[in-house]
Amino acid sequence: MNEYIPCFACGAKSLNIEGEVHEYMLSAPGCWEMFNEVLAREYSDLRYWRGHQFTVDAYACQHVGKKEDSRALNSVNIHLASLHGVFEKGLSQAETPKLRERFSQFYKGKNLLDWLEPPSSFGQLTVFELWNNEDADLHFEIAQNWARSVWKAWEHQHDKIHELVSQID
Ligand SMILES: [Zn+2]
Repeated sequence: MNEYIPCFACGAKSLNIEGEVHEYMLSAPGCWEMFNEVLAREYSDLRYWRGHQFTVDAYACQHVGKKEDSRALNSVNIHLASLHGVFEKGLSQAETPKLRERFSQFYKGKNLLDWLEPPSSFGQLTVFELWNNEDADLHFEIAQNWARSVWKAWEHQHDKIHELVSQID
């Protein structure tokens, strides 16, 4: 058996294992496992914690789930809004949870968010690069590069996200 298989969603080199996956950020079980291992590092070590918001946004925007699932649709909109805040508006990592919260409260129950057709490629970087890194000092930089690469991959939806975010300001 191969040690790794590509995640069908994001393309990450993923642990070839059986296991659970997220309810709507659908992925290969090994990809979800690597994400959870990265989160565990971030929750337990401040040097890793600095990259946490990038990790969450990048992973969500690479695992779009099913079009019919409103949780998936909302999640992609919210996390793209967060990446927009960081890379277009210069928000700090500490500010992005508040933006996500405001965005989510504003659009909650209004049926105003659409399914965003994903790009054909989500970029070269995935959770694997972060998971595979054991240097705490490099974690932030890798997470940031990953998030930037994901934001760029969604270029065809930048205008749409910009418009959605401008309505909550
Ligand atoms: Zn994946």
